[in-house]
Amino acid sequence: MAAHRFDLVVVGTGTGLDVANWAAEAGWRVAIVEKGPIGGTCLNRGCIPSKLLLHSADVMEVLRRAPAFGIHPQGVTVDFAAIVKRVTDSVDGDSRGIEEALRGLDNPRLFRGEARFVGAKRLRVGEDELEAERFLLASGARPRIPPVEGLADVPYMTSTDALRRTTLPRSMVVLGGGFIAAELAHFYGSLGTQVSIVHRHPLLLNREDGDIARRFTEVYQRRFRLALDAEPTRVRREGQDIVVETRGRDGKRGALRAEALLVAVGLTPNSDVLDVARTGVRTDARGYIAVDAYLETSVPGIFALGDAIGKHMYKHAANHEGPYALQNLREPGNRVPVSYHAMPHAVFAWPQVAGVGATEEEVRQSGAPYLVGTHRYRDTAMGHALEEDDGFVKLLVHAETGRILGCHILGPEAATLLHEVVVAMKAGEGTIENVTRAVHVHPALSEVVDRAAASLAHPGGAHP
Ligand SMILES: Cc1cc2nc3c(=O)[nH]c(=O)nc-3n(C[C@H](O)[C@H](O)[C@H](O)COP(=O)(O)OP(=O)(O)OC[C@H]3O[C@@H](n4cnc5c(N)ncnc54)[C@H](O)[C@@H]3O)c2cc1C
Repeated sequence: MAAHRFDLVVVGTGTGLDVANWAAEAGWRVAIVEKGPIGGTCLNRGCIPSKLLLHSADVMEVLRRAPAFGIHPQGVTVDFAAIVKRVTDSVDGDSRGIEEALRGLDNPRLFRGEARFVGAKRLRVGEDELEAERFLLASGARPRIPPVEGLADVPYMTSTDALRRTTLPRSMVVLGGGFIAAELAHFYGSLGTQVSIVHRHPLLLNREDGDIARRFTEVYQRRFRLALDAEPTRVRREGQDIVVETRGRDGKRGALRAEALLVAVGLTPNSDVLDVARTGVRTDARGYIAVDAYLETSVPGIFALGDAIGKHMYKHAANHEGPYALQNLREPGNRVPVSYHAMPHAVFAWPQVAGVGATEEEVRQSGAPYLVGTHRYRDTAMGHALEEDDGFVKLLVHAETGRILGCHILGPEAATLLHEVVVAMKAGEGTIENVTRAVHVHPALSEVVDRAAASLAHPGGAHP
């Protein structure tokens, strides 16, 4: 056993790698530990491969709608293996490149293998033991496997497998109705797989604003077979297929049969493998590492960020936390609390969804007086050009102060359109005037946001 002492030990080369590099540049002796591919979830099995793959699905949807614009594509075929290869080659190449660069460095020093705490501020990685006064736990999360009878006896995929599968299945059952399930259903469904979705909630994307979740579910109802408000009770093999038995909240039983099964019911943190309890770090009821406003855990000097803390489980949120972690690690006397104000998110499905701030349900619950503004894509020139019937923008604004409380968008380019509102929420007082004072290009899609802002009225009016 070789013992090593560092100024800082970082677990995880996702967002952790950025902080490790900054700390090394600042003169600290830094160790970084990784058991999987270098670059973490976003690069290897998350944002990047999923969005590269989803572009192929988006192209297919554009082709499908082409006749509405007088274009009749013929002989369209899908080379699924080529679609996946483009993506796998790209992300694997990037990950290898980062690893080679890191291996060439003495600081931060890379330790390969699974890390486990063996005592207070003592971490074991294979034959090495790492000690430091300061740690950063950027250990992320992994797909959660629900306890469904028979699941262990059938071949199922997690999102990690689904992003690398090289054959297009004829049919697929997706367990889950969150953003990863929605995106992968779009990917496989657009390219030709018959998709069925089982979700325990009556609406898909049920954490979104109610109007958004309802519209999204309506669209997916048109695209796929949905078993909503239902639980998978048993999974079994039947010939070459997999059968998922379901039971609705109303007690009604059903069964879905498909060639492939994707489990996308959420994530579970990696704090168990790391055995954080051995160093005294407390976790919440779901196993996420508990941190204070400064990202410090229950043990002074041990910090955590990103998916490991289970707050905003998006890469941009982890990236946002990185500089705070560095600041608070380096200057305990000058710590800065993380500001999560106006943290946006997006779902790159078809339709695309994006949101920031509170949902209408949350605003109503808060008791704040508020105004709602909505506008349909269809009722702007560009929305009309796109023949976009489902899309809309919804704005929630404080009735007295004009502060933007939330914005929710469903439709083409939702993730990009949202940014005008994100910037407005961060600017000055964060009021709606930051949107309405700006001249909007006619007839760009951003007019939908402008018109939603111009239509603010007391709640209870027409819904989108
Ligand atoms: C399919 C999918 C699509 C996604 N799409 C988006 C998107 O479009 N936009 C977005 O913002 N977010 C997206 N996300 C979420 C995003 O990928 C994560 O929020 C982000 O990558 C978390 O970064 P992190 O640094 O906290 O953890 P990670 O990147 O997961 O890094 C943790 C690292 O720690 C390592 N590790 C864990 N335990 C140990 C141990 N004991 N020893 C050694 N190493 C260990 C892991 O191997 C891993 O490399 C997506 C996620 C998935 C799964």
